[in-house]
Amino acid sequence: MALVARRLELVRPSQTKTMTARAAELKAAGADIIALSQGEPDFDTPLAIQEAGISAIRSGKTRYTAVAGMMPLREAIQEKFRRDHGLEFGLDQITVGCGAKQVVFNALFASLDPGDEVIVPTPCWVSYPDMVVLAGGKPVLVPCIESHGFKLRPDDLAAAITPRTKWLLLNSPNNPTGTVYSAADLAVLAAMLRLHPHVHVLCDDIYEKLVYDINFATMAEVAPDLAGRCLVVNGVSKTNAMTGWRVGYGAGPGALIKAMNTIQGQTSSHTSSISQYAAIEAIGGDQAYLAGFVSDFRKRRDLVVAALSLAQGLTCETPQGAFYVFANCTGVIGKRTTDGALIETDTDFAMYLLSAFAVAVVPGSGFMASPYIRISYAANATDLKRACDRIIAACAALR
Ligand code: PLP
Repeated sequence: MALVARRLELVRPSQTKTMTARAAELKAAGADIIALSQGEPDFDTPLAIQEAGISAIRSGKTRYTAVAGMMPLREAIQEKFRRDHGLEFGLDQITVGCGAKQVVFNALFASLDPGDEVIVPTPCWVSYPDMVVLAGGKPVLVPCIESHGFKLRPDDLAAAITPRTKWLLLNSPNNPTGTVYSAADLAVLAAMLRLHPHVHVLCDDIYEKLVYDINFATMAEVAPDLAGRCLVVNGVSKTNAMTGWRVGYGAGPGALIKAMNTIQGQTSSHTSSISQYAAIEAIGGDQAYLAGFVSDFRKRRDLVVAALSLAQGLTCETPQGAFYVFANCTGVIGKRTTDGALIETDTDFAMYLLSAFAVAVVPGSGFMASPYIRISYAANATDLKRACDRIIAACAALR
């Protein structure tokens, strides 16, 4: 009998983590690798948040907390939804987990019966399809084409809905494309969802604050009549430069939140008490630093988009959110490297960039869309400039 369960055969390792690990290996072996594969801000956690964590340790706030997250943190989250979106949630409609990742997983695990379907517009975050599979559901991938800004079209949504559809999984700003759904875009999808009352909407808003020249909107706010069918997921990882603290949260129907807490109560119990104290500061405290983060990200985005226009075979739009550029690499497919190797896929191209030009990016196949590469611009401008020069040289060297 095999030690590892059969269900694991259906799960792919995250390509983001694979590329990042390979880049780290090469770096450890002495190579001058520039890693643009990881989805995490390079900023330090702001000082006041660090202090809140340190003070929690020093004052002995290091014990178990409520499974759903400690009350003052849930109150801060409740207030955040009120302040930012005019959304009202009871404290029993809010749960805190070890990152948005665990919150999404808990939601799927708590809601999917075998064979239940989850509509996942693609390109999508690497983890969604595999989480759905792990939870016993069936991911229904709906391609969103580049010429439509990688946005889900209502007709495509309608065509994907079946009596087994439990969730539509919406992620805006999107990883990997940076696409942001405007309030008008969401209103159009809401009109379609009204025709299908059995479909719920999981809104992964983790990049909410990282938007450029567009206002962020979430479904529950745009379509209040659908709010009871929405689970809004967010967290401090990206907005507050706190990836390692592991705090994410979800707000939605009380029965679902209760079920998610049951799962959490039997698995992690809760995220670290220290991180929860830090998150109270992150969510409820002064966020003046955010404007600086956004302004830096915008400059870096513009740097990468401008540089890539010089890379033969690559094209990209200017993304409106998150910190990724999703570059179309159709123009390099079918070409050969100076060693004579054929670039047949975006994975071949990403591997070529890593092995021959020491730049780590993630191939579009990891996000269920090819041929693309995702470049994370959450890196300093010097590294970004050097990396773009290498990508330009790598493209120019192909024949
Ligand atoms: N959702 C999306 C779309 C992401 O890109 C990520 C991280 O890359 C997460 C969720 C996970 O965030 P957290 O660090 O809060 O688990």
